[in-house]
Parts: sequence; C-alpha cells; structure tokens
Amino acid sequence: MPGDDRGEQVGTVAGPNRPHCAIAGGGPGGVLLAYLMARAGLRVTLLESRPDFRRDFRGDSLHPYTLELLDLLGLAEPLLRLEHSRATRFRFHTSAGTVTTADYGRLPGPFPYVALMPQWRFLDFLADQATVFPGFRLLLGSKVTGLVEEDGRIQGVRYRDETGEHRLDADLVIGADGRFSRMRRLADLPARSLGASSDILWFRLPRRAGDPPTADADLYFGPGHYVSTLGQDDSWQVGYTVPKGGYPDAKRAGVGPIRDFLTARVPWLADRVEDLADFDQITLLSVEISRVQRWHRPGLLLLGDAAHVISPVGGNGILMAIQDAVTAANVLIPVLREDRAPDETALAEVQRRREPAIEQVQQAQVRTEHRVAGVIAEGGDFRPGLLLRTALRIPAVRRRAARSNAYGPVPPRLDLALLDPAADHSPGGTT
Ligand SMILES: Cc1cc2nc3c(=O)[nH]c(=O)nc-3n(C[C@H](O)[C@H](O)[C@H](O)COP(=O)(O)OP(=O)(O)OC[C@H]3O[C@@H](n4cnc5c(N)ncnc54)[C@H](O)[C@@H]3O)c2cc1C
Repeated sequence: MPGDDRGEQVGTVAGPNRPHCAIAGGGPGGVLLAYLMARAGLRVTLLESRPDFRRDFRGDSLHPYTLELLDLLGLAEPLLRLEHSRATRFRFHTSAGTVTTADYGRLPGPFPYVALMPQWRFLDFLADQATVFPGFRLLLGSKVTGLVEEDGRIQGVRYRDETGEHRLDADLVIGADGRFSRMRRLADLPARSLGASSDILWFRLPRRAGDPPTADADLYFGPGHYVSTLGQDDSWQVGYTVPKGGYPDAKRAGVGPIRDFLTARVPWLADRVEDLADFDQITLLSVEISRVQRWHRPGLLLLGDAAHVISPVGGNGILMAIQDAVTAANVLIPVLREDRAPDETALAEVQRRREPAIEQVQQAQVRTEHRVAGVIAEGGDFRPGLLLRTALRIPAVRRRAARSNAYGPVPPRLDLALLDPAADHSPGGTT
C-alpha cells in the first residue's frame, strides 16, 4: 500500500511539517477529503485503524453524483476500468408482483447508472491517487485512541500502532471514523437516535452461471423479512432483515428459516442455500438512523457516519459521506491554506450546508422504516398499494426517484479552482 508508513514515530510535529489536518477514519468520507486536501497542496495525515481497506459487508454503491465528481477530478475513467457492475434500476419483488421503483437508465447525465464496486477497491484506488501529492500521508494500522486538548481547543490526536502510542498535532482534526465513531464519544458529541425497526443479517452465497445480472439492485419481500442481493465479483452479498433486536431469536432458530425464506422468495438462490450452513457465517448489522446535534468542537469536525448514521435503506450512506467531504473541502481548504486553524464559524458552516440534506434523507428513511420495514418487522408482508404501483408505471416518476437518489437532496458542487495549489486564493487573487 503506497504511503503506508506504519511503524514510523510521528510524535509531535511542529513548525512547517505540522499537518494542516489529521483525519481519523479511512472510509469514503475520510479518504476523499484527504485526497482533496492533498491535491490542494495541504499536508494531511489519514489514520485508518485497520491494516488495509478490505472491510467486509460495506456499502458498494457509487452514485451518479460520485461518478460525476470523480470525472471532474479526472478519476472516473481510470476507476471505471476496474472491475464493477452497473445498476440501472432498483426493483421490489413482492407477492403482488415486481415493481421498478427507480430507473437510473433514464437519467440525462454521463453516468446513468449506479456503479457497484467493492468499497475496498474504490478506497484503494483513491488512496493510491492521493500518494502523488507530497502532503498526503497514510497511516494504516493506526487507531486513534484519544484527543489532544489544550487551551480549550482540540490540537491533535493520540493513536496506537504496532510500535506503540503516538501523538499527532494538527491545525484541524476530522472525525470520519464511521457509525461507531470513537471521535464522537471522545469529543462528547452525542448522537440522537431517530429510530429503526429492523436489523440486517449479512452473509455470502456463491455466484453461478445463469444468475440474474449483478447490475440490478433488488429487494425481495415476504412475511416478516425482506432480502437484498448485492452482486460482487464471485459472490452475492445477501442481507436478510430481522426485527430490531431480533438477532438472538434468529440465532436460536438457526439458518433453517433463512434458507426456507430464500427458497420461497428468491428461487434462483434455492440451489445453493445449503452453502449457508452455520450461523457463524452471518454478520449482524444493527440498523441505525441517528444524528449528532452539533458536528464540531473547537479544532474538530465530524463528518459522514460519525456525524449522522444513515440506514442502508436506499443505499445513501456513501453518497452522504462523499458530499460531506466535498462541502468540508470547499469551506476548509481556503482557511487551512492560509495556515490558519479553522474557527468554530467555519466548522459550523460545514454543518449548516450539509444538515438540510442529511435531515431530508433521514426523514425519508424513517418514513420508509414505518411504511415498509415496520410492516415487515411485525410479521406482515409488504405489498405496494395500487396507487404506488400505478404511479411507478409512469417513466417520469421512476426517473424522478432515480434522480433524487442519484444526487441526494442538496448536492454540493466542488470548487475545483481551490484544488490548484499554485493559484492565488487570497481575497484579491485571481481565482
Ligand atoms: C452492511 C452494510 C451495507 C451498506 N450498504 C450500503 C450501500 O449499499 N450503499 C451505501 O451508500 N451505503 C451503504 N452502507 C453505509 C455505508 O457503508 C456508510 O454510510 C459509509 O461507508 C460511511 O462512510 P464514512 O466515511 O462516514 O465511514 P466508514 O465507511 O464507516 O469508515 C470509517 C473508517 O474509520 C475507521 N475507524 C474506526 N475507528 C477508528 C479509529 N479509532 N481510528 C482510526 N480509524 C478508525 C474504520 O475502520 C473505517 O475504515 C452500508 C453499511 C453497512 C454496514
């Protein structure tokens, strides 16, 4: 892995080598922000607790917004040369028939599809691209364990790697460490839960010749559960919902009921349900929809899942983290470039710009939870009503649904001029 300087003692870096920014968490939000800051000529250190980006059971969707952003950065073409599939529609398979709820193929932009690529492949790619910038530094296997707080301001982080404990000072600390964010806890920025009525059990089944194309994003509904199938290189990542807190009961019941449900509702998987032999093959995702009221403290900003946990419903989590990173770059790069630590006003501005979109996405998820997942969680079977089925026959309705999912409610536009380190960005400058 390029830039992987595990084992090096960073200690307290002062003077001209002190990072402008230390980012805790190498998910889509953290890696993109590190890339953008490094490309803008800033010194940025990205700390990721794991030894690589290969985490299992993560979101894999790169929406048209993300692809257009990467295109603007000159990265879409090389990224899309890597193995991926393209989802052009989102479908519900129910006992009342199949409905297409969103039709990306009808979007007018250059990428009328959602690219499905294992998240680690995307993160590896982006981190590789960042290594060409001299200010970029990636510390893998480096877990942030504490905050350095002095004079009422967060001045850096403490982290642990295989060589021991270290301290890294920076003008700004970003907490992009995901849904179980330690930074959120360390900074005492509690999240408020907005409720969720289901949890998801994830497991893998093999892919076989003659399977449906991996390109479609499909949900299969039945009494008490629904199943999502995400096609990957050589397997299907299968998500099976249980009522919130239902994991112990499901585990007691064993894999039999899950196999039975798949056989009945996803018949093309029936020939391999025996591959799910043991509950140990299953990973629990506790579904959560929650938001931190205040995303910042002096010297620290939370973004992505650390600031707002998005449920997998609708597959918006990566998009929201990416858009947070774009907004943070737009607001914070000009300040950091002047070697100033961003004040509370700048940090609050990132939250002010992003919160309306997050609120809208989460409200839609809570509504879906009540209408769909709530029915399922009570043992019912979700069937789209006549009104919904009729509306979804109208192409413009499916296109509008795809559009709102593809770009999110308030898509930020990256200020590309900021990324030119040579340009004069002073108030009277030329850019
Ligand atoms: C099973 C599952 C399926 C999902 N499906 C989808 C989907 O289809 N589409 C979609 O858009 N979203 C999906 N999501 C949600 C999506 O993965 C997240 O919303 C998105 O990854 C959030 O990005 P992030 O950068 O905020 O944080 P994350 O991607 O969570 O990254 C956080 C990173 O921080 C690291 N970290 C944690 N603690 C520390 C620490 N103390 N020090 C250093 N590093 C640390 C972690 O190892 C991790 O790499 C899914 C999530 C799950 C769990």
